Amino acid sequence: MLTRECHPTPTAPCRCGAAANTWCMECWESPFYCASCIVEQHRNLPFHRVEQWNGRFFERKELAALGLVIGLRHHGHLCTQAPSDRATTKFTIVHTNGVHNVTVAYCHCAPRTKDTNQLLLTGLFPGTFERPASAFTFAVLKEHHIHSLQSKKAAYDYFEALRHLTDNVLPNSVKDRYREFLRIAHVWAYLKAFKRSGQYYDIDKLLPSTWPFGSLAVHCPSCPEDGFNMAPNWRNTPPDKRWEDP
Ligand SMILES: [Zn+2]
Ligand SMILES: [Zn+2]
Ligand SMILES: [Zn+2]
Repeated sequence: MLTRECHPTPTAPCRCGAAANTWCMECWESPFYCASCIVEQHRNLPFHRVEQWNGRFFERKELAALGLVIGLRHHGHLCTQAPSDRATTKFTIVHTNGVHNVTVAYCHCAPRTKDTNQLLLTGLFPGTFERPASAFTFAVLKEHHIHSLQSKKAAYDYFEALRHLTDNVLPNSVKDRYREFLRIAHVWAYLKAFKRSGQYYDIDKLLPSTWPFGSLAVHCPSCPEDGFNMAPNWRNTPPDKRWEDP
């Protein structure tokens, strides 16, 4: 553990020939890179944590601070149709490993996709639908959903843990997006139930059921349902064959 915190000397230069002083804490066996090569290496891994040797110790760096701009709808690359004046937006993105300050560039290809839809199509759930400046990755919403169902962990504690993962020395210096997270976590749980119930595909019209129209409850095929799995003349059952509450 301690060896990993020391800068290896001498270190091989970056693949581009420049001095290599930056490595990724999350890529498996990350070699040392220069800042611009590590940014290039993370176009499709924008939420990895990297560290840069500052002469005395490894300092945590945001990939955005090293120059990474997350291009939407172009596999991490920047859209060539973007106007240069308002091409990028500062964003706070919450992922399973913490809170990130990133720079996002929307796609401007015609026909222009709405900003919120661009975020959703790339797996980012916007914190608001009016000019969003924060978003949650689908991965963090899924992980929180499963944690809350399995361990009953409160959203507040889950989010506080994310702040500690971001900075365990000064967690209060990490941006607080708990209120937005709580709201979006509810929306996420509802949308998951909606998707799994089949309501988007009008399942009520496909399956004979006495469930209320639009129900998100899991359908139980063994529960007795008139016209579905009960004898057609069940109402004529003789009194001695009926079950009645004594
Ligand atoms: Zn390099
Ligand atoms: Zn990495
Ligand atoms: Zn584009």
